Amino acid sequence: MAEIDPAGAPEVVFRDGLAEGELRYQRCRACSTAVFQPRVLCTGCGSDDLSWERSSGRGTVYSTTAVRGRGGAHNVALVDLDEGFRMMSRVDDIDPGSVGIGMRVAFTTVEDNGDPVAVFRKGSA
Ligand SMILES: [Zn+2]
Repeated sequence: MAEIDPAGAPEVVFRDGLAEGELRYQRCRACSTAVFQPRVLCTGCGSDDLSWERSSGRGTVYSTTAVRGRGGAHNVALVDLDEGFRMMSRVDDIDPGSVGIGMRVAFTTVEDNGDPVAVFRKGSA
């Protein structure tokens, strides 16, 4: 694993993580809130004392929608990660309408126009 260089802008640190296959998030040193999207100030208390951590990538689907477009249907999901933050993503490799609330999912990355993107796949417990 590469060391997390916390000097960059939060969005850059996050994207560097995706390039390493890691799901990075921030945790507030003042109030322990797990912070996501990457940002400068804690969403819980406003502190700027945020540290970077690596998520296990394991989570649970909080909400799910099948979106139909020209390229076919895809899924948009809100996933609650086990570390206590929520992110908008999608669940791949499963029929978009079959993604269920409460389903256990696991983080992975896929290439989208050359950039790594965070997605989830149906996972075990
Ligand atoms: Zn805080």
